[in-house]
Amino acid sequence: MTSKHECELECRCGQVFKANLYDSINVTLDPKLLTMLFAREINKVKCPKCKVESQVKNPLVFHDMDIDLMLVSKDGNMENLIKDLENRGLYKDVKKN
Ligand SMILES: [Zn+2]
Repeated sequence: MTSKHECELECRCGQVFKANLYDSINVTLDPKLLTMLFAREINKVKCPKCKVESQVKNPLVFHDMDIDLMLVSKDGNMENLIKDLENRGLYKDVKKN
C-alpha cells in the first residue's frame, strides 16, 4: 500500500511549510511512483517562499508485488535505493531523466 503523511518542514530561509511525504510506495498499484522515484521526485519538496527544492530524508518502504520485492530505506536516501534496484538489474526500461 502507498501511504503518506503530512509533515511540517523548515527551510533554510526560515519559512515553515507543510508537505506530504511518502512513507511507502507500491509501484504495482501506482506505476507512476516508479517513474517518480527514478526522477528523484519522491519526497522532493519546494519551499513556497524561496522556491528552493530539496529531497527530504524520510524513511521509505518500496514495494513491488509483481516480483514480490520489498525494500526498506531507513535513512530515506533515494540514491542508495535506486542503486540497489539497479544492482538487481530491475527497471532498466524506466526513463531516468
Ligand atoms: Zn525557503
